[in-house]
Order: sequence, then C-alpha cells, then structure tokens
Amino acid sequence: MNAEILAVGSELLLGQITNTNAKFISSQLSELGINVFYHTVVGDNSKRLEEAITVAESRADLIIFSGGLGPTKDDLTKETIARHLGVNLAFDEVALSYIEQFFAKRGRPMTENNRKQALVLAGSEVLANHHGMAPGMILTKDERTYILLPGPPKELEPMFQFEAKPKLGAMLNDGGVIVSHVMRFYGIGEAELEVSVQDILDTQTNPTIAPLASDGEVTLRVTAKAETEGKARQLIASKVAEIQAIVGDYQYGIDDDSLASKTVEMLLDNKLTISAAESLTAGLFQSELAEIPGVGTALIGGLVTYTEEAKVKQLGISQELLDTHGIVSSECAAAMASTVREKFGTTIGIGLTGAAGPTAHDHQPVGTVWIGIAIGDEDPITYLLHLSGMRNTNRLRAVKFTCHYLMH
Ligand code: ATP
Ligand code: MG
Repeated sequence: MNAEILAVGSELLLGQITNTNAKFISSQLSELGINVFYHTVVGDNSKRLEEAITVAESRADLIIFSGGLGPTKDDLTKETIARHLGVNLAFDEVALSYIEQFFAKRGRPMTENNRKQALVLAGSEVLANHHGMAPGMILTKDERTYILLPGPPKELEPMFQFEAKPKLGAMLNDGGVIVSHVMRFYGIGEAELEVSVQDILDTQTNPTIAPLASDGEVTLRVTAKAETEGKARQLIASKVAEIQAIVGDYQYGIDDDSLASKTVEMLLDNKLTISAAESLTAGLFQSELAEIPGVGTALIGGLVTYTEEAKVKQLGISQELLDTHGIVSSECAAAMASTVREKFGTTIGIGLTGAAGPTAHDHQPVGTVWIGIAIGDEDPITYLLHLSGMRNTNRLRAVKFTCHYLMH
C-alpha cells in the first residue's frame, strides 16, 4: 500500500501554520509498514483540490486528507471529494445527534452550517470525533482508500490513532494484527549499531527492523505481523533478544521512553536525590529532568555557575584548582559535582563544564566537555566528551550523556 497525504488549508500555504498533521500521519503509517511517497499541500480551493486528488490517484492507493471538514464556507474537502468520486453526501445520525447535544448543552443556537458537519460520504465508514464535531470518514472505492480527517491536531491525532489506524491495520493484514516495538539506544552511533546487527538486518522479513537516528540517539523499530497480538509480540520478543545479545549494553529504553524519563525512573526506584552545578548547560540538565512528572522527590536543586567567579563564589571551588587545571577540566567537573552534592545534601551531585562553541574556551577546543558525577560518599567520577555539533546541540548532548552515564 502506497500513501499520499493531502493537507488542505490556505493557512499552510501562507506559512501561518506548520503541517504537523502530515508528520504525525507519516510516522503512524510507518508503524504499519505503509510507505508514504508524497506529502501534498493545497489551499482551500475546490478546483485545485480536485486537481491534487487526480494527481494523488495516479500514484497512491491510500489518500489521507487533513482539514476542511468544518462548518464554514472555505471548508470544502468532503464536497469536493464527493463530486470528484460521484458519491452523495448523507447525514450521519450519530454525528448529527452528537452535534445537536453539543449545542443543547451550551444553550447555543445550532445553524444549518453546523448540521452540515454531520454530512458524510455515502458508503463511507464514519470515524468518531471525541474532541470536536466533524466526524472523519474512511471510504474504499475502485480499490483505492480515502481517509478524511479534521484539521485541528487535537482532533486528528486521536482519530487517526484510535479509529483509522486499527482499520487500516486490519485491511492490510486480512484481520491480523501489526505490532511494533521501539528499542532506544544511546552512546553508540547509527553506523556502528547497524554494522553490529548487520546479519539480523540483512535477513529481516517478519519482524521487520527499521533503524532511525536523531539527536544523537538511535532507535530500532521492530514490527511484526501475525494472526493475533500475542503471536506478534512473541515474534518481536525473540528478535529483540537477538539484538540485545549484541548491543544490549547501549539500550536505555523502549517505545516512548526518553533518557530523562529513564534517569528519573532510576532515581525514584533507588530513592536517590540529585543536584547539579551547570556551566555550559546553564540549567538544561535540570530542565530536562523537570519535564518528567514526579521528579520532585529526586531533583532537589542546583546552581548555574557560568563564570569562573561564580564557580569560586557560589560553589566554593578554590581559585588555585581553577588556575592549575582550568575551567574545562576533569578536576573542575569533579569539584563542581562534589561541592553541589554537599551544598544540597543530595546522594548524587553533577558537574557540567565545557566549551559549547562556537569558539574555544579556556584553551579547550569546541566540543570538549567534562562531566563529573559524585555519588554517595565516593570520589567523583569524570567523563570526557569530544562533541562535534553546533553550540546548542553540544549542550543537549552533554545533558544526554550525563543521563546515559548516570544509568551505567
Ligand atoms: P474546523 O472545524 O476547526 O474548521 P477543519 O477540519 O475545517 O476544522 P481546517 O479549517 O482546515 O480544519 O483547520 C482548522 C485548524 O486546524 C487550523 O486553523 C490549524 O490550526 C489546524 N490545522 C489544519 N491543518 C493542519 C495541518 N496540516 N497541520 C497542523 N495543523 C493544522
Ligand atoms: Mg475549518
């Protein structure tokens, strides 16, 4: 099955909004193993929309529309598709009563335009909208499948994920199921990971394995097809075990895990507390941890000590140490980690210092980062990174490596 995503909306062409719907649908389709060959964007214009549909039909057997299902005059997606396909629009009773109730509850008058939202393509299967009024639709005609989704992402995303995707999965697999599982790795490059598991990648059929690298992380998506979910999960489990036997040391999580969420989980599970003294990251480490709900019992606080003076005055690091070893040094990172641990009375203290770029800092080349980790009563351990990204990439990498080392 080859798909094209056709986003309708003049505001997309005017640069007022980003086409996040196409991104979302594409990533969902990849989980089903459906290839997306084209993303198209067209304005709220019936003639050009119809042209775009004709082009899409010439090269895709699944066309997914986003937007233009609303009550206003510029919302013309379903009218245009109906005309193009020669099918009628008919009222869907369930959608209509939902809309009537919506207005009754709010005591607001319902207009004819609002009723229009309950019109669906005759012969289509209706996709319920639990976050708005316009229902979605899925219609198969002449061996081609058309899916119509409302524009607002908070309506489109759950509708696609929970209403349309299972139906697509069933169509693809004659009632079977497709299950996918993501393995997340850090501290290993994409090329190195691929080479390590080359034999497994070369012989993949079911499950299939798709590598992806972004933000310094590498993921493998393992997707299996089977008659039942249990069987698909079994296929996945044995493939995952094969992969783990080779590169398991680098795996930090699965599915929606992040380095920060796994770090927080580890801290909470072990009843550990943490504080950080941050130079080049200037609070980014704490900010990343703070994104995870429940971190409050583990993350106690920290200091941003950007300048040399701040390191001396706020942390109490000796000027002599800085003069002897420099700010970007193992000794400085260790001192930052142990002093912040003491100041905040935490089990773990983190020290982050380095040259983020674009220019060298303290005679150290751009990308040099020292991470200090002080645990319990032990002397701090330090790690050296040579990063090659731009300034803010380096800052984020420093944070991710800190999480990575904390979990090891
Ligand atoms: P409504 O009933 O809200 O009018 P609709 O199905 O008619 O829904 P549109 O009018 O096309 O959808 O878009 C409504 C809003 O949804 C837009 O203003 C925009 O905020 C968002 N939106 C539309 N298309 C996209 C897209 N491709 N990516 C991200 N957001 C989008
Ligand atoms: Mg609209």
